[in-house]
Amino acid sequence: MTHKTREKSIYVTQPTLPPLKEFLPYLEKIWSNKILTNCGPFHQELESALAEYLGVKHISLFANGTLALMTALQSLRIAGEVITTPYSFVATAHSLLWNGVKPVFVDIEPGGFNIDPARIEAAITPHTTAIMPVHCYGHPCDVSRIERIASNYGLKVIYDAAHAFGVQYDGNSVLNQGDLSVLSFHATKVFNTFEGGAIVSPNEKTKRHIDHLKNFGIVDEVTVVAPGINGKMNEISAAFGLLQLQNIDSALQKRAAIDAQYRAGLSTVAGIVCPSAPSGAVTNHSYFPILVQPGYRISRDALFQKLRDADIYARRYFYPLISEFPMYRGMPSATSSNLPEASRMASQVICLPIYPDLSDIQLENILNVIKDV
Ligand SMILES: *Cc1c(COP(=O)(O)O)cnc(C)c1O
Repeated sequence: MTHKTREKSIYVTQPTLPPLKEFLPYLEKIWSNKILTNCGPFHQELESALAEYLGVKHISLFANGTLALMTALQSLRIAGEVITTPYSFVATAHSLLWNGVKPVFVDIEPGGFNIDPARIEAAITPHTTAIMPVHCYGHPCDVSRIERIASNYGLKVIYDAAHAFGVQYDGNSVLNQGDLSVLSFHATKVFNTFEGGAIVSPNEKTKRHIDHLKNFGIVDEVTVVAPGINGKMNEISAAFGLLQLQNIDSALQKRAAIDAQYRAGLSTVAGIVCPSAPSGAVTNHSYFPILVQPGYRISRDALFQKLRDADIYARRYFYPLISEFPMYRGMPSATSSNLPEASRMASQVICLPIYPDLSDIQLENILNVIKDV
């Protein structure tokens, strides 16, 4: 990983840090009570505060989103094959491999970023136990069609909701969909705890089981009920989350404003398309994907390079597809003929910088590079 500090560089995302002096009282409390981890007071407070803010029943905090995904699969005893999307961050499929589960890739919807429900049934075999869709960029999946297929075939649904903090559909949190939803609070995400993640559970019993699994399976001093893992969030991260939560609404508003400015600025550029979330969705503007189509003057990769040359570090999320990495590409479902929509999307997409501190001047600068081709 490279960490450049050149002031004028613009990255695809940048965390918003509250004034340091606002964090000091939290640190003083940790220093005085000497509880650093193991589900301490800030951990408990953040679980309650997030459940309330997000409109979900039960939430279990984790050290990161990948451990949360792995634990979600463990908690439902998922085995065999799981249907998932190739158009995501690699952790989605990796969490399956870490559980000894075989990912089966299904293409994304034409014109969208999420798994295509119309193609799920054809991928079901006697070994299929679950579906793991992703609410890519915070655009909600077609949750009702996925739910119908899952209930017809007796499959579990675990949503990788790493991009879906605060996302709603038809007035309801998307995090209440499926058997479990998994969030990431990584530094690059809309809401961050440096590193962190969470599982949203529908009931108290499931949450309790997950809470045991994230703490080695320990129930009490003399009882261990499962081969659990160490997935706990520490107190510094939990405290930072509580502080972040105070400013999250204004951060989301700034993201929405930047999204609108990009759309207005790019509306007249031939060959550049700005896809929107489905109607009925309240999204979080976690990413700003554009598609560079053949009508544009130069290729996607040439535009990507041109942005780099101007110190604008946009990203080609999600290129390459997960199915193209060596540990996946030999699988029958990983062939590009099985994934034409995802392959095309991966060849056209660029995610432009979007974060609350992106200034008007920086945004104008990005728009000018794209327009002045
Ligand atoms: C960030 C991300 C993850 C992994 O989360 P970490 O907290 O970084 O472990 C998983 N899936 C998707 C889609 C992500 O974007």
